[in-house]
Amino acid sequence: MQCTKFDAVVIGAGFAGIRSLIELQRLGMSAVLLEAGSDVGGTWYWNRYPGARTDSESWSYCFPFPELEAEWAWSERYPSQPEVQAYLRRVVEIFELRDHIEFECNVVAASYDETTNEWTVSREDGSSIDATFLVTGLGQLSVPHVPSIPGLDTFEGETYVTGRWPEGPVDFSGKRVGVIGAGATAVQAIPEIAKTAAHLTVFQRTPNFVMPAVNHPLTDERVAEIRANYPSIWKQARRHVFGFPMEAAGRVYDDVDEQERERIFEEGWARGGFQFVFETFDDLLTDARSNDAVAAFVRRKIYETVSDARTASLLCPLGYPYGAKRPPAGHGYYETFNRTNVDLVDVMREPIQRISPHGVVVGEREYRLDVLVLATGFDAATGAYERMDIRGVGGQRLIDVWKEGPRSVFGIAIPGFPNLFMVGGPQCAYANIPVVIEAIVGWLRSALLRMREEGSARMVATPDAAETWSAEVQRAFDGTLLPKGGDAGSWYLGANIENKPRKPLFFFGGCGAYSGFLAENVAQDFPGFRRESLTEVSR
Ligand code: NAP
Repeated sequence: MQCTKFDAVVIGAGFAGIRSLIELQRLGMSAVLLEAGSDVGGTWYWNRYPGARTDSESWSYCFPFPELEAEWAWSERYPSQPEVQAYLRRVVEIFELRDHIEFECNVVAASYDETTNEWTVSREDGSSIDATFLVTGLGQLSVPHVPSIPGLDTFEGETYVTGRWPEGPVDFSGKRVGVIGAGATAVQAIPEIAKTAAHLTVFQRTPNFVMPAVNHPLTDERVAEIRANYPSIWKQARRHVFGFPMEAAGRVYDDVDEQERERIFEEGWARGGFQFVFETFDDLLTDARSNDAVAAFVRRKIYETVSDARTASLLCPLGYPYGAKRPPAGHGYYETFNRTNVDLVDVMREPIQRISPHGVVVGEREYRLDVLVLATGFDAATGAYERMDIRGVGGQRLIDVWKEGPRSVFGIAIPGFPNLFMVGGPQCAYANIPVVIEAIVGWLRSALLRMREEGSARMVATPDAAETWSAEVQRAFDGTLLPKGGDAGSWYLGANIENKPRKPLFFFGGCGAYSGFLAENVAQDFPGFRRESLTEVSR
């Protein structure tokens, strides 16, 4: 890895970065991938907390490469973190990418030089690499958010942040453990920690609507069936609103009476996972009546499952629509609160006052702990971009350009930042991420080929197109019940981070529609982007 000049630098060895590197190599470009971790995985490298697994079904949480599909056998409906990471390692092996990845390389800055038409990407150690193109796969949930609770650094026990979980096993046995958080991460970690901890105290602020994941191992027959069906799995996923291989339910609230609605919810609940959301009613996230019905159904399930009525009532989300905060998938989550070694503490009515050397203080009471687990979320979408000193034309800083919230074309390109392409960046479609990545990388391939064909040196999004796309992102968001998640701290619009502008961080108009926009953009020769030759660049 002596070279300091490449056609492209890719940042991040998660799904987005790996997929991008493969495509750049297919185009015959020289490319290097820089990764802060010591191995591949991205999200699946950092989030090694107990119980971490996908909420997407394994057969749609992968790449559409026939050579991989033919050999890889998923073991479960929802693969665990080690299995997803093993999959990504295998991808890297098959495509011989490891020699093109620099690990433990923390990128701190990237700046574009107009005179050379090059990006200089700087590592933490002060060294740098130059490249014509900068492709970022920084992750949508890659910067953990640790709330500034007074006294946090005075805690004398062990402290773990779920999004930075250590590699070795963490032993909870015989220990008093506290988990702060009740989002998708905590929902996965809590049942696992409860199995070995002497006592587990869950500090919950906003309860979530948790659907049962209904995980199960995949039989050899099922694996064979999946292998044979990958083309149709991908076809379905590409056109599905959230990028899952499912058909729309084909019915809305008004199509059925209450009894039938209940039956449909029961059936969806039994199937589990996102089938409960997307195969029950198509207007759950857009019609308040449909939403109220599903919310009431989940609350009933909580009361049915949790034996202590007070705990059940604390676990019941109220005051915001179902889905306005990302619904977690549970693996025995509500059942865990029936264990005698698990307690739930409501820190909504009475917030955590401080962390003491011995535990968590809520009101007058100190909960004494040996281990504190912070499952407190992420500075989503823009967080990773804003922590890097990214500078475009004229030295303008991305953090300043995005002061009022992200602005881009398709969540891929930013006016004033030529040849920077985000794969999975803010304002891209919110959906099952491998499917979104596939659409973006397809667009990127077409754009790079077009540039090569006509000999252009740089491609940059126009301000008008970024305005139009940002308006489209807002319009799609406003067409749903999701804005109501703002007051409940939804990270979909940055409401979980103090002083973060409340703007939708993703395009919620559907994965199929998004892919359609990208395909149309290619077909129409990239309206919304300027392409310039070297002479124009140096003028
Ligand atoms: P999250 O949904 O943002 O949850 C963070 C939790 O920490 C919330 O319950 C929040 O309470 C709580 N919290 C934050 N600051 C607090 C404070 N000062 N006092 C008390 N509680 C505090 O984050 P997450 O659980 O990491 O999940 C984020 C996203 O990652 C998910 O929505 C999902 O998209 C993704 N994820 C996916 C998977 C998967 O697919 N398998 C697994 C895990 C995560 P409030 O809600 O009141 O703010």
